Amino acid sequence: MFENLSERLGGVFDRLTKAGALSAEDVTAALREVRVALLEADVSLPVARDFVKRVQGKATGAAVTKSVTPGQQVVKIVHDELIATLRGDEDPGKLKIDNPPAPILMVGLQGSGKTTTTAKLARRLKEREHKRVLMASLDTNRPAAMEQLAILGGQIGVDTLPIVKGESAVQIARRAKSQATMGGYDVYLLDTAGRLHIDEVLMDEVQAVRDAVSPRETLLVVDGLTGQDAVNVATEFEGKVGITGVVLTRMDGDGRGGAALSMRAVTGKPIRFVGLGEKTDALETFEAERVAGRILG
Ligand code: GDP
Repeated sequence: MFENLSERLGGVFDRLTKAGALSAEDVTAALREVRVALLEADVSLPVARDFVKRVQGKATGAAVTKSVTPGQQVVKIVHDELIATLRGDEDPGKLKIDNPPAPILMVGLQGSGKTTTTAKLARRLKEREHKRVLMASLDTNRPAAMEQLAILGGQIGVDTLPIVKGESAVQIARRAKSQATMGGYDVYLLDTAGRLHIDEVLMDEVQAVRDAVSPRETLLVVDGLTGQDAVNVATEFEGKVGITGVVLTRMDGDGRGGAALSMRAVTGKPIRFVGLGEKTDALETFEAERVAGRILG
């Protein structure tokens, strides 16, 4: 399907002289291939451009040892830079949820996998960290979404806030907070309403909910198969609501995972988890090496 980056670069360097260090021409030729590889991996264009510029600075003049070809050398520089960009300082799997009950706000567009991810995260917190978890759907426009969360809660043995018709998202969030406090829960997850596109009404609502509960974590759920779109979504949510991390869904699909690089570069926030399927156990802690390997092909 895709030609991997090492093969591509092998072709470029075969035509060039093999001196002891990477020349500016070698690097320029190689970086054209790197840019194409990133775009094919669904990295957004501005992020790919920036990334290539950074690699250019590091690669020009870099020594090529006898044991590797110039192509391998560039792949190594690209790989190292990918890892450095993707990996933050923090442990991605460790959420800030001390001081119970800790609110976690789940935000993102409709169809991104937000409700499924809410249940996956609840299950993980319950089973791995032995937390008492409460979930609440704030999607007042879509009763089916509220039902969906309640059904998932039943499947994984996690309580959901009873549905009360006619309440606003903020009212539901406040009720979740008081139930979580009185019921002795460690964590409560708020599954906010998503829209098909970003709009002001949606952002106002998420801001109001945020202000009502002061979430410890605000996780943006993004479809990992989207490139440029994911970047626009992240920019909006980070600017208007502020996020503390990202969950990439559908990483079990054919995508090359470039959205991970775009997300990290644009928001500066850690990618915490990846969704690897529809079932509630299909959530894993983000690993930079795995995604870097996938992007390189
Ligand atoms: P929401 O509208 O953002 O709440 O999205 P949903 O949670 O309802 O998910 C939309 C669809 O995507 C459902 O069919 C989910 O089963 C599916 N889905 C969610 N996460 C993943 C994932 O990581 N991998 C795959 N393959 N499907 C997913």
